[in-house]
Amino acid sequence: MDCVFCKIISGSIPSAKVYEDDDVFAFLDIAPANKGHVLVIPRKHFKNMDDIPEKELSSLMLAVKRISKAVVEATGADGYNILNNNAAAAGQVVLHIHFHIIPRYKDDGIDLGWRHLEYAKDEAGELAKSISRFL
Ligand code: 5GP
Ligand code: ZN
Repeated sequence: MDCVFCKIISGSIPSAKVYEDDDVFAFLDIAPANKGHVLVIPRKHFKNMDDIPEKELSSLMLAVKRISKAVVEATGADGYNILNNNAAAAGQVVLHIHFHIIPRYKDDGIDLGWRHLEYAKDEAGELAKSISRFL
């Protein structure tokens, strides 16, 4: 499979490894938002949230939590963002599920802000119900 992250796991593309275990691999993003920006991925190839099984996702998220703490300790960051993009429309470029851990500093200039729309009367209630029906 022509997947850059599978190649990183197999070692055919070099990476700055941060952590690995039986299920998970973590390494520095090649183009970091801040230095110490880590990507955490499952060893097995899953495209994104749509196809990763719950068991693999659980291992992945526990590793994200542990590694976030290590990133903060190593960088002295004031905080961090955990980001996961699903599908091209949401900014997913590499189609092997990954979580970004981005160390953050007060006034570091990174803008993750989004617009804040408003709901029309009854719209929020209807939409919440519609989402609930799919659960
Ligand atoms: P996405 O936009 O899919 O959520 O994020 C993909 C991330 O993978 C980007 O932040 C990009 O810098 C990183 N990336 C892409 N190719 C490589 C690579 O070959 N090595 C490393 N370490 N990171 C990569
Ligand atoms: Zn892959």
